[in-house]
Amino acid sequence: MSEEIERRKCVIIGSGPAGYTAAIYAARADLEPLMYTGLQPGGQLTITTEVDNYPGYPEGINGPEMMEDFRKQAERFDTEIRYELVTAVDLTGPVHKVIINDKVILADSVIIATGASAKWLGLESEERLNGFGVSACAVCDGFFYKGQEVVIVGAGDTAAEEASYLAKLCTKVTMLVRRDEMRASKAMQHRVMNTPNIEVRFNHNALEILGEKTVEGARVINNRTKEETVIPCTGFFVAIGHRPNTDIFKDWLDMDETGYLIVKPGTSKTGIEGVFVSGDASDKVYRQAVTAAGTGCMAALDAERYLTEKGIN
Ligand code: NDP
Repeated sequence: MSEEIERRKCVIIGSGPAGYTAAIYAARADLEPLMYTGLQPGGQLTITTEVDNYPGYPEGINGPEMMEDFRKQAERFDTEIRYELVTAVDLTGPVHKVIINDKVILADSVIIATGASAKWLGLESEERLNGFGVSACAVCDGFFYKGQEVVIVGAGDTAAEEASYLAKLCTKVTMLVRRDEMRASKAMQHRVMNTPNIEVRFNHNALEILGEKTVEGARVINNRTKEETVIPCTGFFVAIGHRPNTDIFKDWLDMDETGYLIVKPGTSKTGIEGVFVSGDASDKVYRQAVTAAGTGCMAALDAERYLTEKGIN
């Protein structure tokens, strides 16, 4: 049985650019925000290298450092940060419940900033060898494959960027693209196609990752000719996009068929009073740090107005 322990004006779930920006605004509006970081404090940017497109950093900055800056700024205004995972919510309202295992926080307003996570291919061998040569983050794990041969699946900007990153460390990178063209931006495609140690195999799918205890190769198929081949490799990277981290909200909030939360256009408001959404959890189009930060700001302003209307703040 859960036990009520405290009541807060504003609980923020998630700690990427959306969550921290919401925290900065909420704290400055005296909402005394309580943030739950989730399992990856700082969010997806903590597993990237260089961020060159966030305004205010003319020389660029690496992702983890940028998120440290966000955190420090949020803490400067007395955001309380807890390094825990919210396990469930009860949004029956008017006061909502944010649940952390057997702990319940009563929240007058909730800002969801849970972001998105990497998608996987769904192969049995991928799951079995995850962490033993299979990875969804080249920047985190690429170093382990220095001087070796690797395979990367995907054809978007992430896959292209990670293939380029891996090419600097590895002797050979084979990129598996399921169609006859890449989705990545022209500039990224150009970079990939002009890197001598990246081989792009169009119209190819991975069938199986080979190896007992660690990755030894990948069995792939040309989906046009149906020809199967084995590519020797010690690392297998998956870069096929992300899914929103919204499972705990599925009984409460409207979402599209892929789980992205639906907000009232032009706002951060959900169908439930006092519950606001920001960042990648509701954005499958832009998915940038700067847009996440922008919607984090919107969510905090919407929460502040809501609490003022209710006479809570
Ligand atoms: P995307 O959704 O853009 O791309 C996913 C890629 O994976 C697609 O090429 C897709 O193929 C492929 N794919 C999906 N499922 C499978 C599967 N089962 N088997 C094989 N291939 C599969 O995701 P990204 O993570 O690349 O990018 C997300 C967003 O972030 C984009 O808007 C991107 O522009 C942005 N971004 C920007 C960067 C930058 O500006 N520096 C860096 C990284 C990302 P198909 O094309 O056939 O659908």
